[in-house]
Amino acid sequence: MTRFIFITGGVVSSLGKGLATAALGALLQSRGFKVRLRKLDPYLNVDPGTMSPTQHGEVFVTDDGAETDLDLGHYERFTGVPARKSDNVTTGRIYSEVISRERRGDYLGATIQVIPHVTDAIKEFIGSDLGDEDFVLCEIGGTVGDIESLPFLEAIRQFGNEVGPDRALFVHCTLLPYLAAAGELKTKPTQHSVKELLSVGIQAGIILCRSEHPIPEDERRKIALFCNVRNDRVIPALNASSIYEVPIQYHAAGFDGQVLDYFGLTAAPPANLDRWEEIVRRLKSPEGEITIGIVGKYTRVIDSYKSLSEALTHGGIANNVRVNIAWMDSVIFERDGAAVELEDVDGILVPGGFGERGSEGKIRAAQFAREHKVPYFGICFGMQMAVIEATRNLAGLPDAGSTEFGICADPVVGLMTEWLRGNEREIRSSATDKGGTMRLGAYPAVLQPSSMVRAIYDGSDVISERHRHRYEVNINYTNRLEEAGLSISGLSPDGTLPEIVERKDHPWFVGVQFHPELKSKPFDPHPLFTDFIRAALEQSRLV
Ligand code: GLN
Repeated sequence: MTRFIFITGGVVSSLGKGLATAALGALLQSRGFKVRLRKLDPYLNVDPGTMSPTQHGEVFVTDDGAETDLDLGHYERFTGVPARKSDNVTTGRIYSEVISRERRGDYLGATIQVIPHVTDAIKEFIGSDLGDEDFVLCEIGGTVGDIESLPFLEAIRQFGNEVGPDRALFVHCTLLPYLAAAGELKTKPTQHSVKELLSVGIQAGIILCRSEHPIPEDERRKIALFCNVRNDRVIPALNASSIYEVPIQYHAAGFDGQVLDYFGLTAAPPANLDRWEEIVRRLKSPEGEITIGIVGKYTRVIDSYKSLSEALTHGGIANNVRVNIAWMDSVIFERDGAAVELEDVDGILVPGGFGERGSEGKIRAAQFAREHKVPYFGICFGMQMAVIEATRNLAGLPDAGSTEFGICADPVVGLMTEWLRGNEREIRSSATDKGGTMRLGAYPAVLQPSSMVRAIYDGSDVISERHRHRYEVNINYTNRLEEAGLSISGLSPDGTLPEIVERKDHPWFVGVQFHPELKSKPFDPHPLFTDFIRAALEQSRLV
C-alpha cells in the first residue's frame, strides 16, 4: 500500500523544506521502506529550464531528460533514487496540459474550471507513474497563503480525502523566529500559518519547526495546543552544521518515528543511520583541506551551482579532506594580469554556463590551468572553453570560437542540429523554441581504451551521464585538437559527438560535455570528482 506525505511550508520561504523532505525520504529508506520524492511547483513556467539560475537556482536534469527544480537534486543525493520527469510538475505544465485537452475537445463541452479540471490534473500527476513505493513524499513549493499555491493545496486536500487519513499525512514546515530583545522564540507566525492551512481544509498532522534556538517544552506545548496536534508531533528542526547531518538530527527529534506512528507502522524496523554518521564523521574530522576555484558567471548565488558544490564536497569526503570553494566571477579574468588570483587555488573548475559574457575570462582560466599545470575540470561550457583556448593558442586557429556567440571563422564549438537518442534522431534548428529543446538527459559515451578517464571510471567501456546543452565540440576539428594536445577520450556511440577531452601532457586536465555533478552522492561520490579532488590534493602538496 502506497502512503502519501504532503509537505507544505509556512511563515517564510527558504525554510529548507526540500532538505526536510529529502531527509525524511532518507530516514524512511533507512528503515527499509521504498520511497519516491516529488515536487509540485506553483510557478507558471512550464519547467525551470528557461529561468535564470540566479533567480531560481540550478536546473536539475533527470536521466529521462526533464529540467527540474533543484530540490530534486537534494532528493536524489539523499536517497539515491533517480529522479524522473514524473517527479516535478509546475502550474505552467498543468495548465498547458488542461488547455491542450480542452483544444482537443476531451472535455466534451464542459466549462473548464480550476476545480475540478485543474485540481484533477494535479491529482492525476500525484498518483502517476508509481509502482510498489511504500511512501510518496510530495513537497509543495512556495508558502501557504500564496495565490499560486491554492489549486495545489485544494488538490492535495481532495487527494488526502479520497485516499483517507490512514494513507495521507500533511507535514507543515514553519519557522519560529527568535526575538533577541525579548529573548524568546515566537510561536504566533506558526499558529497563523497552520490556521491558514486549515482555512483551505488541511489539518497539519506534524509540524516541523525550524528554529535557530532550542525550543522550550512550553512553546512546543503551546504550538500543539493551538494547532491541534499532539505534543510529540511538534518536531524541533534546528540548524545543522552540515546538510548531511539533517537526517541524524531529525531522527533524534522524532520526525520519522512520528510519521510511522501516524500511519500505525509501529513495528517498522529501526532506522539505520550508519551511512550518515560516517559521512558526518568524515566531514567533521578531515585530514586536510584544499581550495577549488570555481570560475563561473552565477557565482553570487550559491544555489545556481548547488549540485556542483555538493559534488565537490563528496569528492572531499572520498579523499578525507575539506574542500573550500573560492567563487570567482569569470569576468575578472578578462583584465590583464588577473590570472594571478588563480595562484592560490589547488584546482580550477569551469562549470556549465550560457552566453558570451564572461567567456573570455573562462578561456583565460583554462589557459592558466594548462600553462601552470593546475588540475582543471571543465564541465559542459567549461569543456567548450578549454577547447577554444587550446585551438586558438596551440593549433594556430586564432579565430576559433563557439557559434553560441555568433558566426565565427573556426566554429570549434557549434550548434548541434541533430543527434541520436537511442534509435531516434532528434532534430533542431536555430529557430527552435528555447524551452526544453536542448540535448537533455542521459546519453551514453564510449571511453577510449588507454585514456585517463577510463581508468577513473574503473575501466568501464561505456558510461551514461546527463546532458544539458545546445552546442557541441565540432568533430571536424579532431586533428586540430590533437595538435593542441587535447585528445578526445569519450565519444557518442556513433562517433560524432565528443563527450570528453583530456590532456596527456598535464597532471589532470579533463573536459566533459555532460554534468557529472548531477549524479554524485555523499555516500557514492562521482569518480570524476573523487579523482579531481585527489589531483588537487597532490597539487596542494607541491606548493
Ligand atoms: N551554453 C553551452 C551550450 O548550450 C553550454 C551549456 C552548459 O554548460 N550546460 O552548449
